[in-house]
Amino acid sequence: MNPENISQTNFDLCVIGGGPAGIITVLEYSRLNPDKLVLLVEYGYPGQKSKNALDDSIQIENRINHHDPYECTNKGLGGSSLTWGGRCVMYDDVDFMDRPSMAGGCTWDINLFNELKAYVPTAAVYFECGDPLFNLKDIAEFKDKKIAENFKEGIVTDSTIERWSMPTRFGQRYEKELVGCPNLTLLQGYEARDFAAPDKNNNVSSLTVRSVTGQTLLEVKAKHFVLAAGTQESTRILLRNTQLFNSLEKAPSSLGRYYQGHLSGKIASVVFTGDPKKTEYGFLRNSDGTYIRRRFQFTSKYLVDNDLLNTAIWLDNPLYYNHKHKSGAMSFMYLAMITPFLGKKLAPPAIAHSITNGEVKNIRKHLWNIIKTFPGSILKPAGIFYKRYCLKRKLPGVFLFSPKNDYALHFHAEQIPCAENRMELGPDKESLIIHYELTDTDVNSVIKLHDTLDKWLRECNSGKLHYWFEKDDLSDAIRRISKDGIHQSGTTRIADSPKDGVVDRDLRLWGTKNVFVCSSSVFPTSGQANPTFFLGAFAVRLANYLK
Ligand SMILES: Cc1cc2nc3c(=O)[nH]c(=O)nc-3n(C[C@H](O)[C@H](O)[C@H](O)COP(=O)(O)OP(=O)(O)OC[C@H]3O[C@@H](n4cnc5c(N)ncnc54)[C@H](O)[C@@H]3O)c2cc1C
Repeated sequence: MNPENISQTNFDLCVIGGGPAGIITVLEYSRLNPDKLVLLVEYGYPGQKSKNALDDSIQIENRINHHDPYECTNKGLGGSSLTWGGRCVMYDDVDFMDRPSMAGGCTWDINLFNELKAYVPTAAVYFECGDPLFNLKDIAEFKDKKIAENFKEGIVTDSTIERWSMPTRFGQRYEKELVGCPNLTLLQGYEARDFAAPDKNNNVSSLTVRSVTGQTLLEVKAKHFVLAAGTQESTRILLRNTQLFNSLEKAPSSLGRYYQGHLSGKIASVVFTGDPKKTEYGFLRNSDGTYIRRRFQFTSKYLVDNDLLNTAIWLDNPLYYNHKHKSGAMSFMYLAMITPFLGKKLAPPAIAHSITNGEVKNIRKHLWNIIKTFPGSILKPAGIFYKRYCLKRKLPGVFLFSPKNDYALHFHAEQIPCAENRMELGPDKESLIIHYELTDTDVNSVIKLHDTLDKWLRECNSGKLHYWFEKDDLSDAIRRISKDGIHQSGTTRIADSPKDGVVDRDLRLWGTKNVFVCSSSVFPTSGQANPTFFLGAFAVRLANYLK
């Protein structure tokens, strides 16, 4: 359909944003409704320039803890799945339970979680991450094993897993299906701009979209609109379109607020007491070849009883950039990552930063590590390179065996919903200013949960933690190393009334009948989980709801 015909068509569904959420919504809806007309509007376009006006007009206020705009999202079909890691994680019961430190910010409930579970199997198909089982106790071949000798599950668990998608680049993977879908029109290179104000029945009839290259405007008419432009852009569109809330006293005060990501980094290692060969430090593989991996987590009861934030902690390599690890293979990978051009090809900037820390240091000492452990220092990375870049189901990461049974611990932790963490329009009413800080509650919870893990491992006689910093310095260390902006959520949260949130439990924008938001911005709490897989379940559910 050419752009002129688009203006003359009344679509049943118009989805804004062609990332994982938008793609799943349109494909699922089109499959369920082959006779309905669907339009997918995407800002990016084939052959787009490396810079774009949206990212250029974002101002990050805290650049220590938040990545730069170009590192946080991607434009173009497939959205940020172009550079995502592919880690698929489920939310947990505790994420739907109020705790004192949430201060009323947990505005969704466990019934919604239970309802969503019905859509997880379909989401898992889109994500190509194998059977939708997220606990090793449910997988026969792993159910009797444990992370390390002597470990027992109690308040600390080791059986919850992350699954890994191919990683699926949604644009490349689903472009053919989108283009071949007879009732679906794909409009690339257009930016969603202005919605019509709702009529007296709260129906919104149209949206103006603007060509990214030519600035021409088109009017799109549809029965339903779904904003799936990612957290920051869906939020910006709503902040610019407050006429959508005309039927309410005012726009919801939570719009743009309660911005969350995850605290992430390393402050300690674990030394296990048992046989190093019995430690499950790396990936396991499901019978269908999917990569899966254990992580330490804490029971919902323990977190609620102690008012702590949901946190996963997994075994990791020592810091790549610190030559003292003495591993030739790690030094080789560090040097590859800091090599101009090559480094950019090997990993997106946010992931590369976690390996290099943005530092080019001690090159001679790294070279010495490589020489001392030659040829293993070259052969090992060569094998990893093959598995990671040449196979269809790619090795999702690199975890190296430690003969001393000593592993770094990587934490990935929930943040409290804090109103001051927010996205707001700049004085020009176009630019987006992002305020993002870590709170004391966030940081203290990470420290306490490391303590809990340490005590638990000692009680099981399975191991103990070794902290990398003095106790008094842990808090500063976490504040220095933790950097997010790639797992964005919270700014258009679900709640039972517009007093507390921006969308209802069906993702419908308060104040309208037919505008929906499908983005992790609707998640009121961030849990320990990377958000995209659970968002996929919401997209499948929304497509079914709109049917
Ligand atoms: C380096 C990196 C690693 C990551 N790793 C993981 C991981 O391992 N696991 C995980 O769960 N998550 C991960 N994420 C996060 C994940 O990529 C996002 O959660 C996910 O892509 C969000 O999907 P989405 O469809 O909501 O938004 P996006 O993927 O951001 O897509 C939004 C789309 O909307 C378009 N758009 C924006 N504004 C407009 C507009 N005004 N009009 C029209 N179109 C518009 C954009 O061009 C984009 O294509 C990672 C992210 C990054 C950057």
